[in-house]
Amino acid sequence: MQIKIHMLTVRTKRTFAIARGSSDTFDRVILTLEEDAITGRGEAAPTDYYGQNAQSVAEALSLIQISDPWDIEGTLADNDSLPPSALAALDSALHDLAAKRLGIPVYRLLGLACPVPVSAYTLGIADPETTVEEAKKLSNFPILKMKVGDRRDIETVAAVAEVSNAALWVDANEAFSPDEALEVAWELKEIGVGMIEQPVPAFAGPDALRGVTEAAKPLPVIADEGAISARDVPKLAGCASGVNVKLAKCGGIRRALAMVHAARAQGMLVMLGCMVETSLGIAAAAQISGLVDFVDLDGAMLLADDPFTGPGYENGHILLPEVPGLGVEPL
Ligand code: MG
Repeated sequence: MQIKIHMLTVRTKRTFAIARGSSDTFDRVILTLEEDAITGRGEAAPTDYYGQNAQSVAEALSLIQISDPWDIEGTLADNDSLPPSALAALDSALHDLAAKRLGIPVYRLLGLACPVPVSAYTLGIADPETTVEEAKKLSNFPILKMKVGDRRDIETVAAVAEVSNAALWVDANEAFSPDEALEVAWELKEIGVGMIEQPVPAFAGPDALRGVTEAAKPLPVIADEGAISARDVPKLAGCASGVNVKLAKCGGIRRALAMVHAARAQGMLVMLGCMVETSLGIAAAAQISGLVDFVDLDGAMLLADDPFTGPGYENGHILLPEVPGLGVEPL
C-alpha cells in the first residue's frame, strides 16, 4: 500500500464571512492510498475552531496504520486517535479504494440508492445591498442558506425574503445569547425562513437550545457546533430539533452514519453539512445524502479553483457520476 499526503490551499470565489470571522483561502490535506494500481482518495478539512491545522493533520496522517484496507471499520478503529478531519480523509480513501476495486459507486457499497441531492447555497455575511443583489443572481437555486452574526443581519434575511423565491435557511454560528436568540427565532419565523442553525453558543450546552427550539416551533432548530459526533446526539434530544452531521467533525462516512442513526433513534431531524471543501470531500458526504432532511453540501460550489472534477453542480443540484468509487479525479 502506497500512502501519499499532500497539502493544498483552495480559494473561494468571494470572501466567506460568518459570525466568527472571514477568509478567502482554506488549507486542505489530501490522502491518497494506492494498491494494485487502484487509487483511493480522501480530503481532510482541518478547522481552527476544533483546534486543527493542515500541518498537524498532515503529520497525523503520516502515521496511519493500514493492515487490511478491506476492513474499513477495523482500520478506522486502529487509527481512532487521528483528529476527526484526518480520520474522515482515511475513511473516504478506504471507501473510494474498496468501491473502485469492486467496480461500484461508494453509495452502492454502503447499501444505498443513488443520491440526488439538492443542496443549499450559502450567502456569507455582507451588507444588505450586496446580499440582496447576490440572492437575485441566484434565482435558480432552490435553497439559500444565509449566515448571520447580529440583529442587522436578520433585516438582511427579511430583505432577501422579499426578492427571492428560494427556501431560506439561517445559520447564526453561535452568534446570539439565549435571550436574544428567542427574539431572533420569533423574527425569523415571521419572515418565513425554513430552518435555524446553531443560534446560541455550543459551550452554553444543550439546555441553552431548548428555549429557542420551543420559541421557534414549528421552525426546526439544528445544532451544529454543539453536535460533533454520535455521542453528542442523545443529550441534544428534546433540546434541538435536529443535528448537522459533517464528515470533518465526526470522522468520515461511517461515523456520520452512526450519527444519522443516533439522531433517528431520538426522532430528530438530520442535516448533512460540509466545510469549504473540494469536490473530493463533497463527493464523500454526498454518498449518504439520501438519508437526510437538509443537504448543505455547497463547499465546492463556492470555490474558484476546485482541484478535483467528477460531480456536476447545477443550481444547487449535485449530480454524482455513476462510476466506481467516489467518482472524483484530480483535474
Ligand atoms: Mg453551521
